[in-house]
Amino acid sequence: MRKRIYMNMCALSCAILMVISVFVLVLFHNVNHIMMEKQMKSEVEDIAIALEHMNSKEVQRYLESISKENDSRITVVAKDGTVLYDSKEKASQMGNHKDRPEIKEAFTHGSSFDVRHSKTLNEQTYYASQCVKSGEAVRIAYVSQSLLSLVISLTPYYFVVFAFIMVLSLVVAWKMSNTIIEPINNIDIHNPETNFRYKEFNPLLRRISKYNDERKKNEKLRREFSANVSHELKTPITTISGYADLLRNGMVKAEDVEHFSEKIYKESERLINLVNDIIKLSRLDEKKVGIDVVSVKMNELAMRVEQSLQPVTDRYKVKFDLDIENIRITAVELMMEELLYNLCENAIKYNKPGGFVHLRIKRKQEKVVIEVEDNGIGIPKDCQNRIFERFYRVDKSHSKQIGGTGLGLAIVKHVVEYHEGKIDIDSDVGIGTKIMVTLPAETKVS
Ligand code: ADP
Repeated sequence: MRKRIYMNMCALSCAILMVISVFVLVLFHNVNHIMMEKQMKSEVEDIAIALEHMNSKEVQRYLESISKENDSRITVVAKDGTVLYDSKEKASQMGNHKDRPEIKEAFTHGSSFDVRHSKTLNEQTYYASQCVKSGEAVRIAYVSQSLLSLVISLTPYYFVVFAFIMVLSLVVAWKMSNTIIEPINNIDIHNPETNFRYKEFNPLLRRISKYNDERKKNEKLRREFSANVSHELKTPITTISGYADLLRNGMVKAEDVEHFSEKIYKESERLINLVNDIIKLSRLDEKKVGIDVVSVKMNELAMRVEQSLQPVTDRYKVKFDLDIENIRITAVELMMEELLYNLCENAIKYNKPGGFVHLRIKRKQEKVVIEVEDNGIGIPKDCQNRIFERFYRVDKSHSKQIGGTGLGLAIVKHVVEYHEGKIDIDSDVGIGTKIMVTLPAETKVS
């Protein structure tokens, strides 16, 4: 970046210098032209007036003195074009001037001004002519350098000045690029918004700051999650290993073997559920599940979930019914299945024998609302905003007893966020729970 700023500044100085040089040259040339016209017109006018009041001898002396003084050429031409006087050549040896543009115009309009470039382009001649009252025309001519020869003659000086200004620009550009870059290099990446002098960088610094906060938050969550995972895994593994050790050493009575095996089986199942949920969550975290966003037929999906939950419904003696509109949503099908399954499974498990679970899916304006309602044990108000946290359980021992992992609703929350939806909860202890998920009908998946 430093090199780029430096190079750009140098290129800019170079370009500016060139443009200014051309501009100054053209300006100088034009101003010179205007001044010449003004000055020569006034001179030739003065000469014309003087000629009217002098005799021929006086005229000759007068014209010679002016020509010498001004380093100009003065010519007097008769009406028929014959040269009567010329300050540089013998008039008798000069050709007829009738057709010279400046003479022609002076006879026609009273005065004229013209510039002619020599063929070699090294010189240009300015002509100013004026008609005298006595009928002749007087012409004054100056020879000066052409623009090209002016450029050529100025080139060596120009290069010296150019080189000097370029060196100066290089030094200034180097210093300036350093001054610009230094504060950027010294940004305190951990506290980017403190003492930074370019306010143009504020949006970037705010983003860095936000990123830092999120990183810290994620790091904290990750640490907490790892600690929870280890803790949750440790309990069933310890139980399994303990019981297996007793069985291995023959310390369990024959009639207790079945009970111990059942315990080992249950703990292993819990372990498998836990590992499965952890895998699902980490895949969601890494956004690895979003493989296929498809148009999902919600009634077919709900029936599939109902079927797979049949054994749980039977075990808990809960009535499970569906009220599904014929709706399709654009979503990741596997995630949607997981969401319905977890919400319905909770509604069944945290229920009372003989209770009910209603799964409703309906369209509401541009949204799709999924409602899972039960008349189970309910959730205390102060726990309702925590149940979506990983490993949070209202009643840990109850949840463990029914094989909960504490990750089901965390997965639901993730799925809803992934599909840019929202979750609402309405629950009363002893009365029941209603969880509502609102999703856009045409889900935009990030
Ligand atoms: P778990 O695997 O323990 O069920 P979840 O994340 O699915 O974990 O749920 C978190 C906690 O929220 C549960 O432990 C339970 O206490 C409470 N909960 C979830 N759904 C319901 C419900 N329908 N009725 C009552 N309590 C519920």
